[in-house]
Amino acid sequence: MQIPQGLCLARSSRATSLGLPSAAPAPRLRVYFSPPHQRRRHLEINKRPMSRLGTSSLTFFATLLACTQSIAASAAALHVPNDVGSVLPIIQQTYTYLHHNPELGKKEFKAHEFIEARLRELGYRDFVPSTSVPTAVIAILDSGRPGPVVALRAEMDARPLPSGENEPDSHSPHSELPGLMHNCGHDVHASILLGTAAELMHHRSWLHGKVVFLFQPAEETPGGADDIVAETLLEKLKVTKIYAEHSAPGVPVGTIAISPGPTMAGSNYFTLDLDGRSSHAAAPFEGDDVLLSAAKIVEAISTAPARRFEIAMRPVVVSITKLSADGGASNVLPSHAAIAGTIRAFEDPKTAPAGQSSIEQNLLALIEGLAKTYNLKYTWNLRVASPPTINNPILFDGTVPALSASFPGKVDTSPYKGMYSEDFAYYTPLFQSLYFSLGIAKDGLGNAGVHTKDFTVHPDAFRYGLTLMTLLAQIGTVESRTRP
Ligand SMILES: [Zn+2]
Repeated sequence: MQIPQGLCLARSSRATSLGLPSAAPAPRLRVYFSPPHQRRRHLEINKRPMSRLGTSSLTFFATLLACTQSIAASAAALHVPNDVGSVLPIIQQTYTYLHHNPELGKKEFKAHEFIEARLRELGYRDFVPSTSVPTAVIAILDSGRPGPVVALRAEMDARPLPSGENEPDSHSPHSELPGLMHNCGHDVHASILLGTAAELMHHRSWLHGKVVFLFQPAEETPGGADDIVAETLLEKLKVTKIYAEHSAPGVPVGTIAISPGPTMAGSNYFTLDLDGRSSHAAAPFEGDDVLLSAAKIVEAISTAPARRFEIAMRPVVVSITKLSADGGASNVLPSHAAIAGTIRAFEDPKTAPAGQSSIEQNLLALIEGLAKTYNLKYTWNLRVASPPTINNPILFDGTVPALSASFPGKVDTSPYKGMYSEDFAYYTPLFQSLYFSLGIAKDGLGNAGVHTKDFTVHPDAFRYGLTLMTLLAQIGTVESRTRP
């Protein structure tokens, strides 16, 4: 997750949402969700007698059959890493180094140097620099065969801990920098991606096309994925698909989770400044009591979504994260109050849906009315940050069956929608995208939430993360070649 931009993660609440205690065995839910438009299409065709099927329908059936056979064949041809004994030490070494040396967004200098050096040792020579995010490491593996270009993305940045907090001494590895910690698992993801680069360099014959290894800085702060998107780096590399995984606390090691469609909300940030007349605390009637008025406005806009929107159809969360006002003395009512917060939604808060007003219009109408009531002037600013994260339904359909066949009993596709946000979302409107959750809980590790000092990961998760990313690189090319 981002600070202050609210970001990632992931499915820390997924186990809870499934009603499972954190130590429960891996859920084996195999619910398979097709996008509604595809379900309708299948139903419509199935209702029609075969004799009445037109050429186009027969062609569709033939294509569907061929596609299914191809995917099945592709799944059979996929390679699960069987030499992890040589790759896991690379992952473990990288994880230990990154965890010892946490760095904030766009300052991942050590991580950049370490990762690029290891990639060069592995034989990588094709690197793409970023001018806007120079600590990024973007390496390309060319299979030497025609095929699509797919990107595998991992983050690199760590996070600051609350003032006075440090990572517990019992953790191993342990942050060597007081007040900083990899407590969102980005060291895990980067290490696994480096291991995947090692695995695939040894097995280029498993691939077609090219794989772009994207080690992305600044996921926790503005200017990570959004800068890379603005620089059009991936478009220039002709990337068509992008995949990522994120540690999911409380989800058992061995479980991979993903659901199609919108899965995480977009994040937006606002400030609201209120100004009125100060007065002596003994005579509020001589001023505007800005502080008390601000408190009432905070209460009103925090509860607005469930009162002004059909919340089940239009999920919106408004959370106030700052309220400050200071009269300078205990007997002075302040003339100014500063409010700040975040809006989480699956829509652009500035854009009005057909026949309705936008989220911003709704809030402003409320604020304007209250400001008038309390005789306050107000200044409102809303910044739209990351969009919702959307797992492409077509790519989901083309990926998950093959993944499940090679990863039996490990892929949980139960529906998930959360109001967290993730800057991977910036890629999702541009490229076919899938964002996976990686189970990290085992033997008492991997249960604490992201962004806490107690966050840990069970090292057995590395093996599953490596397998997932290695399979995705293969499926990303195979699936594309078999689709019409
Ligand atoms: Zn994260």
